Amino acid sequence: MKILVINAGSSSLKYQVFDMDTGAVIAKGLCDRIGVDGVVTLKRPGKDPYKANVPLGTHDDAIALVLKLLVDPELGVLADISEIGAVGHRFAHGGELKESTILGEKEKAYLASIVGINPLHGPPALKGLDACEKLLPGIPQVGVFDTSFYSRMPASSYVYALPYEYYETYKIRRYGFHGTSHRYVSMKAAEYLQKDLSELKMITCHLGNGSSISAIDGGVCVDTSMGFTPQEGLPMGTRSGTIDPTIVTYLMKQLSLTPDEMDDILNRKSGLLGVSGISPDCREVMIAEKEGNERAHLAMEILYHNIVKIIGAYAAEMDGLDVLVFTAGIGENDAVVRSEICRRLGFLGVEIDDEKNLSTPRGQFCDMSVPGAAVTTLSLPTDEEYMIALDTYRLAQA
Ligand code: AMP
Repeated sequence: MKILVINAGSSSLKYQVFDMDTGAVIAKGLCDRIGVDGVVTLKRPGKDPYKANVPLGTHDDAIALVLKLLVDPELGVLADISEIGAVGHRFAHGGELKESTILGEKEKAYLASIVGINPLHGPPALKGLDACEKLLPGIPQVGVFDTSFYSRMPASSYVYALPYEYYETYKIRRYGFHGTSHRYVSMKAAEYLQKDLSELKMITCHLGNGSSISAIDGGVCVDTSMGFTPQEGLPMGTRSGTIDPTIVTYLMKQLSLTPDEMDDILNRKSGLLGVSGISPDCREVMIAEKEGNERAHLAMEILYHNIVKIIGAYAAEMDGLDVLVFTAGIGENDAVVRSEICRRLGFLGVEIDDEKNLSTPRGQFCDMSVPGAAVTTLSLPTDEEYMIALDTYRLAQA
């Protein structure tokens, strides 16, 4: 069976086609600048990439173009569109939907009802779904939610210490994000160790432009650093992560800021960019740090400090740690960041072979633990699309 995976953003739409008999990606690409002008790319293994400017007014146009390309006699990878057995849709927020599911009218109405707490990702994901329903009638449409990985967290992890009615009435709670990535790397780490997830205490660090850390005890995620929104937790490229909430009201009063202006500061002007004043990109901040820039050094130290603090807290929550996993843009590619973090975690039994860590090519799997270390430390490339394809395949077959 072939599975089409869609990840729709406000003006872009990423797609991948998996052949589930082999697990291979047979085509993938991006429709960009939807509603502006329109660019499409298509990559197929062993073939030249294709790129074209095509007017893309709406998400419907983008899906129609993708389907056309997939069966194109020259560029395509499918003999007929009916080869697509199901479509998997990435939803950053599933609210209270606890697991991946086939999307019927009830689920769609629920997802539409929670766009208020998911204003950036919710509306385009629903548009992508609508377009696929129109253009691929009768094919199962599956929703895979970043938040569902966190649905079994204990209430003590997800209820904030606010008046309880805000949780009941406004659903103010920790939802957690990047769950599909944390789920994928935890599954792969257990496969590598040839152990069942139920036997392992694991901490997975998804460190990218947005970053989160999850504690997975016996296969159940028991805590995660992102919260009601992807703003909480670690400092990120441009996001502050956790700060004293009173800073928000204080600054709003002092500077007469509107909620949108405050939101802009917290989401787009803070983090690595805010502290260093240089860039949200870890690579550029580290270059400046090497050149002796003190604020770049401080920005990296704040990042390390917070990562180590959260890992320490999660090991305490789980009463131990067997596996530490690094993934995403920084986690997979930056051996120096991994090395800095691990150096500070010796007390937990994290001991790495730094030469092995530093010599691992970017983005490749690496078990960097020294033989006999109490904690297995891995760098493991994430693959959220494959995880979405797996869930979609399983549900479509059922
Ligand atoms: P992501 O959001 O997972 O795509 O990660 C993006 C971030 O990963 C970028 O902002 C960079 O800071 C970081 N990154 C990507 N490649 C590298 C690299 N080779 N070395 C260090 N950091 C990297």
